[in-house]
Amino acid sequence: MREDPVSGERELRGVAVYPDIVIGKAHLVDRSRVKILYQCLVNGEQLKREVERFEEAVHAVEDQFVSLKNKMPDKVKDQAFILDSHLLILKDSMFYDSTIKKILEEKINAEWALKKSLEEIREVFEQIDDEYISNRVRDVENVTERILRFLSGDTSQSLGEINQRVIIVAHDLSPADTTELNTAKVKGFITDVGGRTSHTAIMAQALEIPAVVGLEVATALVEDGDLLIVDGSAGVVVINPDDSTIIHYQEKKLQLQEYKSSIARMSHLPAETTDGHRVDITANIEFLEEVAAAKDCGGEGIGLYRTEFLYLSGKGFPNEEDLFEDYREVAEIMNPAPVSIRTLDLGGDKFASKMPMSEEINPALGLRAIRFCLKEPAIFKTQLRAILRASLYGKIQLMFPMISGLQELLDAKEILRQVKKDLDQDHIEYDSKMEVGIMVEIPSAVVIAEILARHVDFFSIGTNDLIQYALAIDRVNEHVAYMYQPFHPAILRMIQQVVRAAKNEGIKVSLCGEMAGDPLCVFILLGIGLDGLSMNARSIPLIKKIVRATSMEQAKIDLENIMKLNTANEVRAYILALTRHMFPELEEKGYLLN
Ligand code: PEP
Ligand code: MG
Repeated sequence: MREDPVSGERELRGVAVYPDIVIGKAHLVDRSRVKILYQCLVNGEQLKREVERFEEAVHAVEDQFVSLKNKMPDKVKDQAFILDSHLLILKDSMFYDSTIKKILEEKINAEWALKKSLEEIREVFEQIDDEYISNRVRDVENVTERILRFLSGDTSQSLGEINQRVIIVAHDLSPADTTELNTAKVKGFITDVGGRTSHTAIMAQALEIPAVVGLEVATALVEDGDLLIVDGSAGVVVINPDDSTIIHYQEKKLQLQEYKSSIARMSHLPAETTDGHRVDITANIEFLEEVAAAKDCGGEGIGLYRTEFLYLSGKGFPNEEDLFEDYREVAEIMNPAPVSIRTLDLGGDKFASKMPMSEEINPALGLRAIRFCLKEPAIFKTQLRAILRASLYGKIQLMFPMISGLQELLDAKEILRQVKKDLDQDHIEYDSKMEVGIMVEIPSAVVIAEILARHVDFFSIGTNDLIQYALAIDRVNEHVAYMYQPFHPAILRMIQQVVRAAKNEGIKVSLCGEMAGDPLCVFILLGIGLDGLSMNARSIPLIKKIVRATSMEQAKIDLENIMKLNTANEVRAYILALTRHMFPELEEKGYLLN
């Protein structure tokens, strides 16, 4: 912490989460624990009522989570799994059954029984010698806290009710708290705890809320109503800044905004290198509602439509008509630009309550994506029919996820053939020339890419999963997040191998993992020769700018040098130096966070 002895201004440093600056009044949120009182209950009637009170609280909190999930802004919908995990805790027997048992057997009040259950769960978690898993106890604490608040009748803490233009200051915000924030009002938030990859930080990024986390002492030093500057690009918070500091940050904010607008203004231009090499820049979407933003940001098509979110809403599986309407609209809005619809990728960390599947110890390696669809052909066929019918209304391309070998691809194509035949029999039209491609995201598919290339019209490399499977790093496990390395020489070679196989066979190849939208990866991906990059719409303007300032010739020279390096750190250092040299403003503006 830095303190100015004359003005009293204090500066704290934490973890930068979202590159924007806000100035506003502090609103301290008390997320301290609810006081829990012990009560001994004597008669059976009291105990029965206590159990009912607990059950009612659990249901109320369940409703809160479901409603938060349903109201989640589109841009954070892919974080819904966090709330799903909270919902699972509510039903966990160590949590639910055990609390009821304690109320009845120990004749105690619901709050005390819940406290005891939490203590027991904490003990179990503490014994686990795995930081990621032991940290999950935080989720149980968040859920317990909500139930206790309901039991105590305390509703004052709902963050959704904060309707002033304030900056929230909290010890910690759970992902559910963050979802609840009224983003039209709340200017930003700062917390004592949290890191860059915490779910709260991810949520803030998705919601585009300027935030700094991990400040350690924010709640101790900030008073309600203090004036704050939150610089989410540098991870700095200034408490009660003096006039010159305010002017400094106002100017910095203006520069940041001007920079963003300058990039946005150019986003409609094609991504063409200085020596005339064109790359297709498209958007990844999860919902129909995102199509407009994809176009606004300069997306030249939809490179990845993740269709599973329509199946995760909790209202059961959508029918063919719902799916058809949805896909048709996306195709029409984007027409004549292409829309790559990926068939269902359920499983892994995306489960639908109606899914006919058993619990798996290792879902990432289990019945996921195409494996699930081949096992449930009726569900698969419904989706394929809807996609084929919608193909008349624009340029739809079909993409199978998680293909691991040729037989699997042929099986999927056979089902597609059957669906086409059914449509023919029903005299329903579709685009018979609709292109069919696959996601290359499993190492075995990389190794036999040259074989697979003969059977499809295009490849789309899914590096999010490719990194997970190639490096044996569970992509949702924070404990090994430091090993999740896009710059690993093995990953770069794999991408190169897939691109070569595609080029040899004369098919197009793009990349739609997070790497595509990472400013640090652009030179490498250009040098490798990808035809297209598909990313989060917000990343499009900057990635286009970088492509337009780069020459293919130079990218190839850099790639040659990079391919001689032996570790991910060496590659990263090379790329960082290159990016700093070419775009010195990016780091200062908080774009090189990762
Ligand atoms: C990928 O795996 O890189 C990908 C784009 O798909 P998802 O993130 O949906 O698995
Ligand atoms: Mg994937």
